[in-house]
Amino acid sequence: MFENSGQTDLSQLGEFGLIELLTKDAKKVQSTTQLGVGDDAAVIDSGDRYTLVSTDMLLEGVHFNLSYAPLKHLGYKSVVVNLSDIYAMNGTPRQITVSIGVSSKFSVEALEEIYAGIHLACDFYQVDLIGGDTTSSKAGLVISVTAIGTVEKDKIAYRSGAKENDLICVTGDLGGAYMGLQVLEREYAVFKGAPSSQPDLEGMDYILERQLKPEAQRGLVQLFEEKGLQPTSMIDVSDGLASELIHLAKASDLGATIYGDKVPVDHVTSQVAEEFKINPTVAALNGGEDYELLFTLPLDSYEKIKDIPEIRMIGHMTEKGSGVYMADQAGNKITLEAQGWNAFKQD
Ligand code: ADP
Ligand code: MG
Repeated sequence: MFENSGQTDLSQLGEFGLIELLTKDAKKVQSTTQLGVGDDAAVIDSGDRYTLVSTDMLLEGVHFNLSYAPLKHLGYKSVVVNLSDIYAMNGTPRQITVSIGVSSKFSVEALEEIYAGIHLACDFYQVDLIGGDTTSSKAGLVISVTAIGTVEKDKIAYRSGAKENDLICVTGDLGGAYMGLQVLEREYAVFKGAPSSQPDLEGMDYILERQLKPEAQRGLVQLFEEKGLQPTSMIDVSDGLASELIHLAKASDLGATIYGDKVPVDHVTSQVAEEFKINPTVAALNGGEDYELLFTLPLDSYEKIKDIPEIRMIGHMTEKGSGVYMADQAGNKITLEAQGWNAFKQD
């Protein structure tokens, strides 16, 4: 039915090219639509404040493998990845809806387990589950979550607000979720070859948790509030630092330079990356799924943030058209490319 002769292959466009193509004709007829496609969440004018809306879908076989992702963690993660997009607007998540497509191979108990994780996340992040949809699926498990949040109008952080010379900052550390996935995939391959074997996961707790049960950075939004800081731009790190930095620079119509030795990588991540013959900084740049926040602050925030351990300064915004680079200590610069995640890449 869908012969590709004379048609454009999805892989030619990539995920972002496709979104751009499909949404370029979207009209804006409602005066309350403050911002549509193009940021971590859509922004709706609710009078005294903005309402934020964001959706993410997780598919079995694409985003998770039920052979090693515990169902409760999966439920938890499906909520967290959505809340992360609300925090990325400097907002506070309030409600979620959850839609699932389930095949008949699932038991009621298995679904209850997923919902135990969803409820746990709701409890931890103080959001309410307020609706959703349930259908049968012939192609594996599908979980789609929509998060709704709010933000004061003068506190919102778009991807597009960075200014030249702003400090580029990031929370936490990067690359761990990706290395966790590499370990799980490796042990799963061993297990498939020899089902009686025991997985070798010793000392890997941190990166496994980063992959299977990530957290969203609600603490940062509170920290900004406490310290009187206002990020000029922000995005969450779902596809990898390089890809997110390029999004931020493009949306802000600026260049950016980060310093390789400043990119935070946990020691377990580094150690496992070396084992896999992957440069740890490359894992941080291209890995994805860390759900940390990448943001910019005016240069004069330096004094306020230099002693805050949760905030790492990794670079600065540069003039329009100057490109997006990573520099090493010797001053060599490499151009960053969004190698992160191409949903339609052929293996
Ligand atoms: P994120 O990584 O923050 O979840 P995405 O890269 O998934 O963001 O999406 C980028 C933007 O494109 C968002 O504004 C999102 O709402 C929008 N978007 C993604 N897919 C579609 C689609 N199929 N139709 C309309 N808008 C979409
Ligand atoms: Mg995002």
